[in-house]
Amino acid sequence: MDNCIFCKIINGEIPSKVAYEDEFVFAFHDINPIAPVHILIVPRTHISTLNDTGPEQKALLGQMALVCKNLARQYNVDEKGYRFVINCGEDGGQEVQHLHAHLIGGRPLGDIATG
Ligand code: AMP
Ligand code: ZN
Repeated sequence: MDNCIFCKIINGEIPSKVAYEDEFVFAFHDINPIAPVHILIVPRTHISTLNDTGPEQKALLGQMALVCKNLARQYNVDEKGYRFVINCGEDGGQEVQHLHAHLIGGRPLGDIATG
């Protein structure tokens, strides 16, 4: 989608530090990390929010969770633990209107969310 910062990251118009990519998802390091590991896992297709998903996104949403788990292992936070977060809408603190999940770990997270 034009003017979507995450679409531009996915198509390479805006540089990012890529952590993982496949046919469905693209994962890159958050530019403003709130923990030692902070990676965003993003569908390649533009979907604005979790509210815009349906049964047809079942496989995609599952893939986002599996990629999170695999990256947690790759970045050595799987054993101590981590957080998998999707912010949705204004009250949810969603700033970028392209569906994404945060993988956050590498320190005790307590009550913190993202944003
Ligand atoms: P959210 O508040 O859930 O919408 O999260 C958006 C996230 O995108 C924030 O954690 C930002 O730090 C991150 N972000 C914004 N622009 C970029 C960028 N160009 N590269 C990497 N991460 C970004
Ligand atoms: Zn987009």
